Amino acid sequence: MKKKWKGTTASKVIAMLKGLLIVFKYGFKKPATIRYPEERRKLPSRSRGRHYLTKWNDGKERCVGCELCAIVCPSQAIYVKPANNTPQEQHSHGERYAADFQINMLRCIYCGYCEEACPTGAIILSNEFELAGYTRESLIFDKEKLTEKQPGDSGRDPNREI
Ligand code: SF4
Ligand code: SF4
Repeated sequence: MKKKWKGTTASKVIAMLKGLLIVFKYGFKKPATIRYPEERRKLPSRSRGRHYLTKWNDGKERCVGCELCAIVCPSQAIYVKPANNTPQEQHSHGERYAADFQINMLRCIYCGYCEEACPTGAIILSNEFELAGYTRESLIFDKEKLTEKQPGDSGRDPNREI
């Protein structure tokens, strides 16, 4: 007759040893988790987070107010109000610039289409992903919030072509 192991003391001891083996196996391995927010993982360079409106190296805005990003956006998250540059006020190298630019971060699905469509490389998606806010209004980013303070602040080379 076949001996039944299930429920015997020996089987319980074997199960316990198996469990201990797993504890020892993983107890000395490098943890997969990190102590966020004290520690931060370096994200892949192509990961998509918060948008920036970038500038040329001379400080001029790259955006020429063409609205292609707003047209291509599947979530209708972008609003652009174009205006003409004047000899007295030259914001960009084109004829026009964006007098107002808003992105509703609550609508955005971070698809990156706006970046793909932009003919001047003005709008980019950075690696910054911490976008929590207490109000809806705080998550509608205006031009001031989106625009780099200094060329290259977003991490993109201000000398690049697009
Ligand atoms: S990443 Fe996609 S959804 Fe977000 S603003 Fe750009 S085009 Fe719209
Ligand atoms: S960000 Fe680019 S696509 Fe959007 S309006 Fe400006 S230049 Fe055009």
